[in-house]
Amino acid sequence: MSKPRLLFAASEVYPFAKSGGLADVAHSLPRALSTDFDVYVVMPLYQFVDRERFNIVALGEHFDVMMGGVVYPVELYGCEYEGLDYRFIYSPLLCDRDFLYGPPESGYEDNAIRFGIFNYAILTLLKRHAYDIAHMNDWQCALVPLLIKDDKTIQTKTLFTIHNLAYQGTFESSALKALGIDDEHFTMEGIEFYGQVNFMKAGIAYADVITTVSPTYAKEVLTSEFGCGLEGFLKHHRSKLVGIVNGIDTEHFSPSEDRALVAPYTDLTGKAVNKKAYLKEVGLKGAKKPLFIFIGRFTWQKGMDLLIESLPKLASLECNIAILGEGEVKYNGELKSIAAECSNVHLEFGYDESLSHRMYAAADFLLMPSLFEPCGLNQMIAMHYGAMPIVHHVGGLADTVQTDKEFDPKTHDGHGVVFTRPTERSFINAVRHALELYGNKRYYSMITKHNMACDFSWNESARSYGELYRKVM
Ligand code: ADP
Repeated sequence: MSKPRLLFAASEVYPFAKSGGLADVAHSLPRALSTDFDVYVVMPLYQFVDRERFNIVALGEHFDVMMGGVVYPVELYGCEYEGLDYRFIYSPLLCDRDFLYGPPESGYEDNAIRFGIFNYAILTLLKRHAYDIAHMNDWQCALVPLLIKDDKTIQTKTLFTIHNLAYQGTFESSALKALGIDDEHFTMEGIEFYGQVNFMKAGIAYADVITTVSPTYAKEVLTSEFGCGLEGFLKHHRSKLVGIVNGIDTEHFSPSEDRALVAPYTDLTGKAVNKKAYLKEVGLKGAKKPLFIFIGRFTWQKGMDLLIESLPKLASLECNIAILGEGEVKYNGELKSIAAECSNVHLEFGYDESLSHRMYAAADFLLMPSLFEPCGLNQMIAMHYGAMPIVHHVGGLADTVQTDKEFDPKTHDGHGVVFTRPTERSFINAVRHALELYGNKRYYSMITKHNMACDFSWNESARSYGELYRKVM
Protein backbone atom coordinates (compact mmCIF):
# COMPACT_ATOMS: atom_id res chain seq x y z
CA MET A 1 0.00 0.00 0.00
CA SER A 2 1.36 3.42 -0.85
CA LYS A 3 1.97 5.89 1.94
CA PRO A 4 -0.37 8.87 2.40
CA ARG A 5 0.97 12.03 0.76
CA LEU A 6 1.89 14.90 3.07
CA LEU A 7 2.71 18.47 2.07
CA PHE A 8 4.56 20.17 4.93
CA ALA A 9 4.85 23.95 4.49
CA ALA A 10 6.91 26.47 6.43
CA SER A 11 8.42 29.88 5.77
CA GLU A 12 11.83 28.68 6.99
CA VAL A 13 13.48 25.28 6.94
CA TYR A 14 16.97 24.45 8.17
CA PRO A 15 19.54 24.36 6.52
CA PHE A 16 18.09 26.46 3.66
CA ALA A 17 16.92 29.41 5.78
CA LYS A 18 16.60 29.79 9.53
CA SER A 19 15.69 32.50 12.00
CA GLY A 20 14.62 30.28 14.90
CA GLY A 21 13.12 27.04 16.12
CA LEU A 22 10.51 26.83 13.34
CA ALA A 23 13.29 26.08 10.85
CA ASP A 24 14.62 23.28 13.07
CA VAL A 25 11.17 21.76 13.43
CA ALA A 26 10.48 22.04 9.70
CA HIS A 27 13.74 20.23 9.06
CA SER A 28 13.47 17.42 11.55
CA LEU A 29 9.76 16.64 11.96
CA PRO A 30 9.18 15.83 8.24
CA ARG A 31 12.19 13.50 8.34
CA ALA A 32 10.73 11.67 11.32
CA LEU A 33 7.35 11.47 9.53
CA SER A 34 8.83 10.09 6.33
CA THR A 35 8.78 6.50 7.54
CA ASP A 36 4.96 6.51 7.42
CA PHE A 37 4.19 9.32 4.96
CA ASP A 38 5.29 10.34 1.51
CA VAL A 39 6.56 13.76 2.58
CA TYR A 40 7.17 16.91 0.52
CA VAL A 41 8.44 20.00 2.29
CA VAL A 42 7.69 23.37 0.70
CA MET A 43 9.16 26.80 1.44
CA PRO A 44 9.96 30.04 -0.42
CA LEU A 45 13.16 30.10 -2.47
CA TYR A 46 14.61 33.25 -0.88
CA GLN A 47 17.47 34.76 -2.85
CA PHE A 48 19.96 33.86 -0.10
CA VAL A 49 19.18 30.13 -0.23
CA ASP A 50 22.29 28.44 -1.59
CA ARG A 51 20.96 26.82 -4.80
CA GLU A 52 24.32 25.41 -5.80
CA ARG A 53 25.20 23.82 -2.48
CA PHE A 54 21.86 22.03 -2.25
CA ASN A 55 21.53 21.33 -5.94
CA ILE A 56 18.20 23.15 -6.17
CA VAL A 57 16.94 23.05 -9.75
CA ALA A 58 13.95 24.37 -11.69
CA LEU A 59 11.32 21.67 -12.12
CA GLY A 60 9.91 23.18 -15.30
CA GLU A 61 6.63 24.02 -13.61
CA HIS A 62 5.45 27.62 -13.94
CA PHE A 63 2.13 29.09 -12.94
CA ASP A 64 0.56 32.41 -12.10
CA VAL A 65 -0.93 33.35 -8.78
CA MET A 66 -3.89 35.60 -9.35
CA MET A 67 -4.53 37.66 -6.25
CA GLY A 68 -6.72 40.74 -5.95
CA GLY A 69 -6.67 41.26 -9.71
CA VAL A 70 -2.86 41.17 -9.92
CA VAL A 71 -0.86 38.36 -11.52
CA TYR A 72 2.26 37.11 -9.72
CA PRO A 73 4.45 34.64 -11.63
CA VAL A 74 5.63 31.56 -9.77
CA GLU A 75 8.30 29.05 -10.69
CA LEU A 76 8.69 25.73 -8.89
CA TYR A 77 12.12 24.48 -7.87
CA GLY A 78 13.12 21.30 -6.07
CA CYS A 79 15.87 19.22 -4.58
CA GLU A 80 16.41 16.08 -2.61
CA TYR A 81 18.19 16.57 0.67
CA GLU A 82 18.93 13.89 3.24
CA GLY A 83 16.48 11.59 1.48
CA LEU A 84 13.56 14.02 1.55
CA ASP A 85 11.87 15.88 -1.33
CA TYR A 86 11.86 19.66 -1.09
CA ARG A 87 9.79 22.04 -3.17
CA PHE A 88 10.67 25.72 -3.41
CA ILE A 89 8.33 28.50 -4.46
CA TYR A 90 10.10 31.21 -6.42
CA SER A 91 8.30 34.47 -7.04
CA PRO A 92 10.33 37.71 -7.25
CA LEU A 93 8.20 39.71 -4.82
CA LEU A 94 8.29 36.93 -2.22
CA CYS A 95 11.91 35.91 -2.59
CA ASP A 96 14.17 38.70 -3.77
CA ARG A 97 14.83 40.22 -0.36
CA ASP A 98 17.76 40.45 2.06
CA PHE A 99 15.80 39.12 5.03
CA LEU A 100 13.11 36.49 5.58
CA TYR A 101 10.50 38.79 7.07
CA GLY A 102 12.22 42.17 7.20
CA PRO A 103 15.19 43.92 8.82
CA PRO A 104 15.48 43.63 12.64
CA GLU A 105 12.72 45.55 14.46
CA SER A 106 10.27 45.58 11.56
CA GLY A 107 8.56 43.42 8.98
CA TYR A 108 8.45 44.27 5.26
CA GLU A 109 5.41 46.40 4.51
CA ASP A 110 4.24 44.07 1.78
CA ASN A 111 4.51 40.87 3.83
CA ALA A 112 0.76 40.25 3.41
CA ILE A 113 1.23 40.13 -0.36
CA ARG A 114 4.54 38.24 -0.16
CA PHE A 115 3.14 35.46 1.97
CA GLY A 116 -0.21 35.67 0.21
CA ILE A 117 1.69 34.53 -2.90
CA PHE A 118 3.21 31.69 -0.84
CA ASN A 119 -0.26 30.56 0.33
CA TYR A 120 -1.81 30.65 -3.15
CA ALA A 121 1.19 28.81 -4.58
CA ILE A 122 0.72 26.07 -1.97
CA LEU A 123 -2.94 25.92 -2.98
CA THR A 124 -1.88 25.34 -6.59
CA LEU A 125 0.44 22.51 -5.52
CA LEU A 126 -2.42 20.91 -3.59
CA LYS A 127 -4.66 21.13 -6.66
CA ARG A 128 -2.11 19.76 -9.07
CA HIS A 129 -0.46 17.06 -7.02
CA ALA A 130 -3.20 15.61 -4.78
CA TYR A 131 -1.98 15.45 -1.20
CA ASP A 132 -3.86 13.71 1.61
CA ILE A 133 -2.64 16.08 4.30
CA ALA A 134 -1.36 19.65 4.28
CA HIS A 135 0.53 20.57 7.44
CA MET A 136 0.80 24.37 7.65
CA ASN A 137 3.05 26.14 10.14
CA ASP A 138 2.56 29.59 11.68
CA TRP A 139 0.92 32.64 10.13
CA GLN A 140 3.01 32.63 6.95
CA CYS A 141 0.96 29.73 5.56
CA ALA A 142 -2.16 30.04 7.70
CA LEU A 143 -4.39 31.19 4.83
CA VAL A 144 -4.20 27.80 3.12
CA PRO A 145 -7.02 26.16 5.15
CA LEU A 146 -9.28 29.12 4.27
CA LEU A 147 -8.34 28.98 0.58
CA ILE A 148 -9.05 25.23 0.52
CA LYS A 149 -12.49 25.77 2.04
CA ASP A 150 -13.28 28.43 -0.57
CA ASP A 151 -11.92 26.36 -3.43
CA LYS A 152 -14.32 23.47 -2.76
CA THR A 153 -12.52 21.10 -5.18
CA ILE A 154 -9.60 20.14 -2.91
CA GLN A 155 -10.04 17.10 -0.67
CA THR A 156 -6.81 17.62 1.33
CA LYS A 157 -7.21 17.81 5.11
CA THR A 158 -5.28 20.44 7.01
CA LEU A 159 -3.32 20.58 10.23
CA PHE A 160 -2.21 24.00 11.42
CA THR A 161 0.60 24.33 13.97
CA ILE A 162 1.04 27.43 16.10
CA HIS A 163 4.73 27.76 16.91
CA ASN A 164 4.40 31.19 18.45
CA LEU A 165 1.13 33.02 18.98
CA ALA A 166 2.94 36.32 19.45
CA TYR A 167 3.46 36.53 15.68
CA GLN A 168 0.04 36.46 14.02
CA GLY A 169 0.57 38.21 10.69
CA THR A 170 -1.78 41.18 11.15
CA PHE A 171 -2.15 43.73 8.37
CA GLU A 172 -4.28 46.74 7.43
CA SER A 173 -7.80 45.85 6.31
CA SER A 174 -6.88 46.88 2.75
CA ALA A 175 -4.84 43.65 2.58
CA LEU A 176 -8.12 41.74 2.29
CA LYS A 177 -8.72 43.01 -1.24
CA ALA A 178 -5.09 42.67 -2.26
CA LEU A 179 -5.21 39.05 -1.09
CA GLY A 180 -8.35 38.40 -3.09
CA ILE A 181 -10.20 37.18 0.00
CA ASP A 182 -13.95 37.49 0.09
CA ASP A 183 -15.47 40.06 2.46
CA GLU A 184 -17.55 37.29 4.04
CA HIS A 185 -14.40 36.13 5.88
CA PHE A 186 -13.78 39.55 7.39
CA THR A 187 -15.76 38.87 10.55
CA MET A 188 -14.92 38.08 14.16
CA GLU A 189 -15.50 34.40 13.41
CA GLY A 190 -13.15 34.68 10.44
CA ILE A 191 -9.94 36.64 9.92
CA GLU A 192 -10.94 40.07 11.21
CA PHE A 193 -9.01 41.17 14.31
CA TYR A 194 -9.72 44.67 15.65
CA GLY A 195 -10.31 45.97 12.14
CA GLN A 196 -7.23 44.27 10.72
CA VAL A 197 -6.61 41.14 8.67
CA ASN A 198 -5.12 38.36 10.81
CA PHE A 199 -3.52 35.40 8.98
CA MET A 200 -3.22 33.27 12.13
CA LYS A 201 -7.00 33.39 12.64
CA ALA A 202 -7.51 31.77 9.24
CA GLY A 203 -5.44 28.77 10.31
CA ILE A 204 -7.27 28.50 13.61
CA ALA A 205 -10.76 28.90 12.14
CA TYR A 206 -10.48 26.71 9.06
CA ALA A 207 -7.90 23.97 9.71
CA ASP A 208 -9.20 20.50 10.55
CA VAL A 209 -6.83 20.24 13.52
CA ILE A 210 -4.74 22.84 15.34
CA THR A 211 -1.66 22.03 17.34
CA THR A 212 0.64 24.01 19.56
CA VAL A 213 4.19 22.87 20.17
CA SER A 214 3.74 21.71 23.76
CA PRO A 215 0.82 20.55 25.92
CA THR A 216 1.35 23.32 28.51
CA TYR A 217 1.35 26.00 25.80
CA ALA A 218 -1.91 24.52 24.47
CA LYS A 219 -3.46 25.33 27.86
CA GLU A 220 -1.70 28.67 28.28
CA VAL A 221 -2.94 30.09 24.96
CA LEU A 222 -6.49 29.88 26.32
CA THR A 223 -5.64 32.45 28.99
CA SER A 224 -5.44 36.22 28.68
CA GLU A 225 -1.83 36.13 29.94
CA PHE A 226 -0.56 34.08 27.00
CA GLY A 227 -3.37 34.20 24.42
CA CYS A 228 -2.16 37.42 22.71
CA GLY A 229 -5.79 38.50 22.25
CA LEU A 230 -6.80 35.23 20.61
CA GLU A 231 -7.62 33.34 23.84
CA GLY A 232 -11.39 33.63 23.32
CA PHE A 233 -11.11 32.62 19.68
CA LEU A 234 -8.94 29.64 20.58
CA LYS A 235 -11.35 28.63 23.34
CA HIS A 236 -14.07 28.57 20.73
CA HIS A 237 -11.96 26.14 18.66
CA ARG A 238 -10.49 24.20 21.59
CA SER A 239 -12.15 20.92 20.58
CA LYS A 240 -9.63 20.67 17.72
CA LEU A 241 -6.63 22.00 19.66
CA VAL A 242 -3.88 19.58 20.71
CA GLY A 243 -0.43 20.16 22.25
CA ILE A 244 2.46 18.04 20.98
CA VAL A 245 5.92 18.74 22.30
CA ASN A 246 8.71 19.34 19.78
CA GLY A 247 11.74 17.10 19.57
CA ILE A 248 15.28 17.80 18.40
CA ASP A 249 17.12 16.30 15.48
CA THR A 250 19.42 13.97 17.36
CA GLU A 251 21.54 13.40 14.25
CA HIS A 252 22.23 17.09 13.75
CA PHE A 253 22.57 17.67 17.48
CA SER A 254 24.75 14.72 18.38
CA PRO A 255 27.66 15.40 20.75
CA SER A 256 29.35 12.14 19.74
CA GLU A 257 29.36 12.98 16.01
CA ASP A 258 29.14 16.75 15.89
CA ARG A 259 31.65 18.01 13.34
CA ALA A 260 31.40 21.54 14.72
CA LEU A 261 33.14 20.38 17.89
CA VAL A 262 36.85 20.31 18.63
CA ALA A 263 36.38 16.90 20.22
CA PRO A 264 33.06 15.04 19.84
CA TYR A 265 32.23 13.27 23.11
CA THR A 266 30.04 10.75 24.85
CA ASP A 267 30.78 11.58 28.49
CA LEU A 268 31.60 14.48 30.80
CA THR A 269 35.36 13.91 30.52
CA GLY A 270 35.12 14.38 26.76
CA LYS A 271 32.88 17.38 27.28
CA ALA A 272 35.54 19.04 29.47
CA VAL A 273 37.91 19.12 26.46
CA ASN A 274 35.35 21.18 24.55
CA LYS A 275 34.89 23.54 27.48
CA LYS A 276 38.62 24.23 27.68
CA ALA A 277 38.85 24.79 23.93
CA TYR A 278 35.87 27.17 23.91
CA LEU A 279 37.13 29.21 26.88
CA LYS A 280 40.43 29.59 25.06
CA GLU A 281 38.66 30.50 21.82
CA VAL A 282 36.78 33.38 23.44
CA GLY A 283 39.35 34.38 26.06
CA LEU A 284 37.44 33.40 29.21
CA LYS A 285 39.53 32.24 32.17
CA GLY A 286 38.98 29.46 34.70
CA ALA A 287 37.90 26.05 33.42
CA LYS A 288 36.99 25.02 36.98
CA LYS A 289 34.33 27.70 37.21
CA PRO A 290 30.90 26.78 35.83
CA LEU A 291 30.13 28.17 32.40
CA PHE A 292 26.62 29.57 31.89
CA ILE A 293 25.45 30.24 28.35
CA PHE A 294 22.52 32.05 26.76
CA ILE A 295 21.73 31.49 23.08
CA GLY A 296 18.74 33.03 21.39
CA ARG A 297 16.83 35.90 19.90
CA PHE A 298 17.21 39.12 21.87
CA THR A 299 13.54 39.75 22.55
CA TRP A 300 11.26 40.36 25.49
CA GLN A 301 9.90 36.83 25.08
CA LYS A 302 13.26 35.24 25.83
CA GLY A 303 13.51 37.14 29.14
CA MET A 304 16.14 39.59 27.84
CA ASP A 305 15.09 42.32 30.29
CA LEU A 306 15.35 39.88 33.17
CA LEU A 307 18.71 38.60 31.93
CA ILE A 308 20.19 42.09 31.51
CA GLU A 309 18.81 43.28 34.85
CA SER A 310 20.34 40.24 36.61
CA LEU A 311 23.57 40.05 34.65
CA PRO A 312 25.79 42.27 36.86
CA LYS A 313 24.81 40.21 39.92
CA LEU A 314 25.25 36.93 38.05
CA ALA A 315 28.66 38.06 36.86
CA SER A 316 29.71 38.80 40.45
CA LEU A 317 29.31 35.09 41.23
CA GLU A 318 32.12 32.58 40.71
CA CYS A 319 31.32 31.69 37.10
CA ASN A 320 31.78 32.49 33.42
CA ILE A 321 28.92 33.65 31.21
CA ALA A 322 28.75 33.53 27.41
CA ILE A 323 25.95 35.07 25.38
CA LEU A 324 25.22 34.55 21.67
CA GLY A 325 22.34 36.12 19.82
CA GLU A 326 20.82 38.99 17.92
CA GLY A 327 17.51 40.75 17.82
CA GLU A 328 16.10 44.01 19.11
CA VAL A 329 18.88 46.59 19.00
CA LYS A 330 17.62 48.26 22.18
CA TYR A 331 19.32 45.48 24.17
CA ASN A 332 22.70 45.77 22.48
CA GLY A 333 24.04 48.81 24.35
CA GLU A 334 23.45 47.48 27.86
CA LEU A 335 24.77 44.05 26.97
CA LYS A 336 27.91 45.59 25.50
CA SER A 337 28.60 47.76 28.51
CA ILE A 338 28.13 44.85 30.97
CA ALA A 339 30.44 42.67 28.88
CA ALA A 340 33.00 45.48 28.77
CA GLU A 341 32.92 45.85 32.56
CA CYS A 342 32.90 42.16 33.49
CA SER A 343 35.86 40.09 32.34
CA ASN A 344 33.90 36.86 32.94
CA VAL A 345 31.12 37.83 30.51
CA HIS A 346 31.64 37.11 26.83
CA LEU A 347 29.20 38.52 24.31
CA GLU A 348 28.83 37.57 20.66
CA PHE A 349 26.32 39.22 18.35
CA GLY A 350 24.97 37.36 15.35
CA TYR A 351 23.62 34.04 14.26
CA ASP A 352 26.21 31.27 14.17
CA GLU A 353 25.06 27.65 14.05
CA SER A 354 28.49 26.10 14.45
CA LEU A 355 29.46 28.39 17.34
CA SER A 356 26.18 27.55 19.07
CA HIS A 357 27.10 23.85 18.96
CA ARG A 358 30.51 24.59 20.49
CA MET A 359 28.79 26.58 23.21
CA TYR A 360 26.33 23.79 24.07
CA ALA A 361 29.28 21.40 24.22
CA ALA A 362 31.27 23.71 26.47
CA ALA A 363 28.51 24.82 28.83
CA ASP A 364 27.73 23.54 32.30
CA PHE A 365 24.43 25.43 32.42
CA LEU A 366 22.03 27.04 29.96
CA LEU A 367 20.14 30.16 31.03
CA MET A 368 16.59 30.25 29.70
CA PRO A 369 14.53 32.80 31.61
CA SER A 370 11.83 33.07 28.88
CA LEU A 371 8.66 34.93 29.88
CA PHE A 372 6.74 32.62 27.60
CA GLU A 373 8.01 29.69 25.59
CA PRO A 374 5.75 27.73 23.21
CA CYS A 375 8.21 24.83 23.34
CA GLY A 376 11.84 25.90 23.19
CA LEU A 377 14.56 23.74 21.72
CA ASN A 378 17.64 25.13 23.46
CA GLN A 379 16.85 23.39 26.75
CA MET A 380 16.62 20.00 25.02
CA ILE A 381 19.77 20.57 22.99
CA ALA A 382 21.54 21.65 26.19
CA MET A 383 20.48 18.54 28.13
CA HIS A 384 21.52 16.36 25.21
CA TYR A 385 24.97 18.02 25.30
CA GLY A 386 25.28 17.62 29.06
CA ALA A 387 24.55 21.23 30.03
CA MET A 388 21.93 21.66 32.73
CA PRO A 389 19.12 24.07 31.86
CA ILE A 390 17.98 26.78 34.26
CA VAL A 391 14.45 27.58 33.10
CA HIS A 392 11.37 29.58 33.96
CA HIS A 393 8.47 27.17 34.55
CA VAL A 394 6.42 28.09 31.49
CA GLY A 395 5.13 26.51 28.25
CA GLY A 396 7.32 23.80 26.77
CA LEU A 397 10.01 24.45 29.38
CA ALA A 398 7.56 23.15 32.00
CA ASP A 399 6.93 20.06 29.86
CA THR A 400 10.54 19.19 29.12
CA VAL A 401 12.50 20.16 32.24
CA GLN A 402 11.66 18.67 35.64
CA THR A 403 13.19 20.19 38.73
CA ASP A 404 16.42 18.69 40.04
CA LYS A 405 14.68 18.28 43.40
CA GLU A 406 12.40 15.67 41.83
CA PHE A 407 15.28 13.81 40.25
CA ASP A 408 14.51 10.16 39.83
CA PRO A 409 16.95 8.15 37.70
CA LYS A 410 14.18 5.70 36.82
CA THR A 411 12.22 8.31 34.84
CA HIS A 412 13.02 9.32 31.28
CA ASP A 413 12.54 13.04 31.95
CA GLY A 414 15.20 15.67 31.63
CA HIS A 415 16.06 17.61 34.78
CA GLY A 416 17.38 21.03 35.59
CA VAL A 417 16.88 24.07 37.78
CA VAL A 418 13.35 25.42 37.50
CA PHE A 419 12.11 28.75 38.86
CA THR A 420 8.46 29.72 38.97
CA ARG A 421 8.48 33.53 39.01
CA PRO A 422 10.17 35.60 36.32
CA THR A 423 11.74 38.03 38.76
CA GLU A 424 15.37 38.99 39.29
CA ARG A 425 15.25 37.49 42.78
CA SER A 426 14.00 34.06 41.74
CA PHE A 427 16.29 33.97 38.70
CA ILE A 428 19.36 34.76 40.78
CA ASN A 429 18.28 32.29 43.46
CA ALA A 430 17.98 29.65 40.73
CA VAL A 431 21.52 30.43 39.57
CA ARG A 432 22.79 30.27 43.16
CA HIS A 433 21.11 26.89 43.49
CA ALA A 434 22.81 25.82 40.26
CA LEU A 435 26.17 26.79 41.74
CA GLU A 436 25.46 24.65 44.80
CA LEU A 437 24.56 21.74 42.55
CA TYR A 438 27.75 22.26 40.61
CA GLY A 439 29.68 22.11 43.86
CA ASN A 440 28.20 18.70 44.55
CA LYS A 441 30.05 17.04 41.68
CA ARG A 442 28.55 13.58 42.13
CA TYR A 443 24.98 14.80 42.13
CA TYR A 444 25.56 17.25 39.26
CA SER A 445 27.21 14.54 37.14
CA MET A 446 24.47 12.05 37.91
CA ILE A 447 21.73 14.38 36.66
CA THR A 448 23.75 15.55 33.68
CA LYS A 449 24.58 12.02 32.57
CA HIS A 450 20.93 11.08 32.96
CA ASN A 451 19.92 14.07 30.79
CA MET A 452 22.41 13.08 28.09
CA ALA A 453 20.81 9.64 27.90
CA CYS A 454 17.20 10.94 27.71
CA ASP A 455 15.33 10.62 24.43
CA PHE A 456 14.65 14.11 23.04
CA SER A 457 14.22 12.80 19.50
CA TRP A 458 11.13 13.29 17.36
CA ASN A 459 10.08 9.62 17.52
CA GLU A 460 7.28 9.93 20.05
CA SER A 461 5.94 13.29 18.82
CA ALA A 462 6.07 12.29 15.14
CA ARG A 463 3.90 9.33 16.08
CA SER A 464 1.39 11.72 17.69
CA TYR A 465 1.29 13.87 14.53
CA GLY A 466 0.82 10.73 12.43
CA GLU A 467 -2.14 9.74 14.57
CA LEU A 468 -3.71 13.18 14.19
CA TYR A 469 -3.26 13.08 10.38
CA ARG A 470 -4.93 9.67 10.24
CA LYS A 471 -7.80 10.82 12.41
CA VAL A 472 -8.79 13.60 9.99
CA MET A 473 -7.91 11.84 6.71
P1 ADP B 1 12.72 30.49 18.89
O1 ADP B 1 11.67 31.09 19.75
O2 ADP B 1 13.76 31.49 18.52
O3 ADP B 1 12.20 29.74 17.72
P2 ADP B 1 13.62 27.91 19.93
O4 ADP B 1 14.15 27.57 21.28
O5 ADP B 1 12.39 27.21 19.49
O6 ADP B 1 13.47 29.48 19.88
O7 ADP B 1 14.74 27.59 18.83
C1 ADP B 1 15.90 28.30 18.78
C2 ADP B 1 16.88 27.58 17.86
O8 ADP B 1 17.71 28.54 17.23
C3 ADP B 1 17.80 26.64 18.60
O9 ADP B 1 18.26 25.65 17.70
C4 ADP B 1 18.98 27.59 18.97
O10 ADP B 1 20.17 26.90 19.24
C5 ADP B 1 19.07 28.40 17.71
N1 ADP B 1 19.60 29.75 17.85
C6 ADP B 1 18.96 30.84 18.35
N2 ADP B 1 19.74 31.93 18.27
C7 ADP B 1 20.90 31.53 17.71
C8 ADP B 1 22.11 32.20 17.35
N3 ADP B 1 22.29 33.50 17.56
N4 ADP B 1 23.08 31.47 16.76
C9 ADP B 1 22.92 30.15 16.54
N5 ADP B 1 21.81 29.46 16.86
C10 ADP B 1 20.80 30.14 17.43
